[in-house]
Amino acid sequence: MRKILIATGNKDKLKEIKLAFDGLPLEILSLSDFENLPDAVEDGKTFEENARIKARFFSEKTGLACIADDSGLEVDALGGKPGVHSARFAGYHADDGTNNQKLLDELKKVGVKESAADYRCALCFVDVDGDEILTSGIIKGTIKNIPRGTGGFGYDPYFYVDDSKTMAELTPQEKDRISHRGEALRKMMAKLKERLT
Ligand code: IMP
Repeated sequence: MRKILIATGNKDKLKEIKLAFDGLPLEILSLSDFENLPDAVEDGKTFEENARIKARFFSEKTGLACIADDSGLEVDALGGKPGVHSARFAGYHADDGTNNQKLLDELKKVGVKESAADYRCALCFVDVDGDEILTSGIIKGTIKNIPRGTGGFGYDPYFYVDDSKTMAELTPQEKDRISHRGEALRKMMAKLKERLT
């Protein structure tokens, strides 16, 4: 059975990506199956560049076919921030709580309670022979300063997919059907199925 490494240290992303691989005859590994792997330097300017950096880095380090995700939130009223800096918006030791507080503070600074926003996701698969597949997905929504729901992760409680519902109020299956990552994963799986099975 072929092995594939899902190269993310984010357990929530890992869950969402694993869902898409369900039923394929593959041995799925994650970064926690390896000891002493260094961090990739994510210094790309786009989600695509960073997904490629991570997939190539971990494929080289492990000798395995590898898939990596780079994703984030872009808020119109903040000129597209936090973008590729979404994971560390509130600083090096940021977590979901401090990132969301920073988001609220930044909205307050520019004097708005809500703003159009989107989530973007880039996925990169790098095979053992170096071949590469890149896919991406986007979902448009609205950031509002009133949180709702306990599902999902990151900025989900503030990301309204319609007037009254946030991403954090969706089941994992509902989120997968409409989300940026779900779209990128469906495009990726269509291309991977031929290659991996
Ligand atoms: P990355 O690990 O450098 O790609 O950073 C991704 C960051 O973007 C996460 O830590 C979250 O802050 C944010 N993000 C990406 N996808 C989602 C999502 O589906 N829901 C909520 N936040 C997300």
